[in-house]
Amino acid sequence: MMISENSKDLEFLRTIGTGTFGRVLLVSEKSSENFYAMKILKIFDVCRLNQIEHIKNEKNILLENKHPFIVHLYWTNHDNSFLYMLMEFLSGGELFTYLRSKGHFDKYTAIFYASEIILALEFLHSHNAVYRDLKPENLLLDKDGHLKLTDFGFAKKLDDSRTWTLCGTPEYLAPEIIQSKGHNKGVDWWALGILIYEMIIGYPPFYDTTSYGIYEKIMIGKIDWQKNVDLVAKDLIKKLLVHDRTKRLGNMKNGANDVKLHKWFKGIDWIDVFSKKIEPPIIPMVSFNGDCQNFEEYIDDESFFKEAPNVSNDQRNLFKDF
Ligand code: AMP
Repeated sequence: MMISENSKDLEFLRTIGTGTFGRVLLVSEKSSENFYAMKILKIFDVCRLNQIEHIKNEKNILLENKHPFIVHLYWTNHDNSFLYMLMEFLSGGELFTYLRSKGHFDKYTAIFYASEIILALEFLHSHNAVYRDLKPENLLLDKDGHLKLTDFGFAKKLDDSRTWTLCGTPEYLAPEIIQSKGHNKGVDWWALGILIYEMIIGYPPFYDTTSYGIYEKIMIGKIDWQKNVDLVAKDLIKKLLVHDRTKRLGNMKNGANDVKLHKWFKGIDWIDVFSKKIEPPIIPMVSFNGDCQNFEEYIDDESFFKEAPNVSNDQRNLFKDF
């Protein structure tokens, strides 16, 4: 496989996603005819929105952490106005789309995705990184239906094992983030509890129309259980959604092993999960390389590129190694 560092060899085809700070385009490499996803950020906006450290963390953590269930970042680059990140193209689209169209997932499906996520989190945590933004929108499927964590904009290396920034998505925030107590890897296990609940029920356990209302519900911690919830799944979710993070499954002395050994995963061969030997429950519709049918249509206006404000030398220098 060739992945040209020469951007002249890359053809920009269409927008496949927009994030808060930039956009993601499908690109093809002319010489190899391979497809990639290119995340492009305006340096001006990254500085204006105080995202400098977040973007640098995203790059460094992705380059340092190669794993079957983490999106592969090939290279990064910059020019006077933009930052570029060339990643593998995950043509299956967002898990969010499948979850909303099905309403909720059956047990097999939820266990399949949870297992792949657990291995990715276990790996990141063992490298002292915390992901901090687990939610269905950040989980993409490859063409075979295996899952990958993407968007490492909030991921962070834990140098002194705790961090304080308020970030993430309200429904998925652990109590210690809301209380600004300083947080660690435990926030990812909390978010896994929210995600498993959302996969099997169809909506998150703490919901309100305002962020404040959501925070209040998280702090009260009362969860509504539908009558037909599998008792084993309920037991796992309750053990992940424990307010005291020293007693939260995944965040204790045996780490991810405690989660992997929970009865909900009985019969799961974790080596098979890692080797992608388990059959994916959803096989995305992908008809050809570079097929974008699993992505929304975006208007590809040129203004994104034309209207990039000039950045100062100081701002540019912040990214000279990007
Ligand atoms: P992000 O800014 O990383 O949140 O990306 C915004 C959106 O772009 C995501 O929600 C996806 O729909 C899409 N996207 C991001 N990375 C990829 C990728 N590697 N392959 C395919 N689509 C992607």
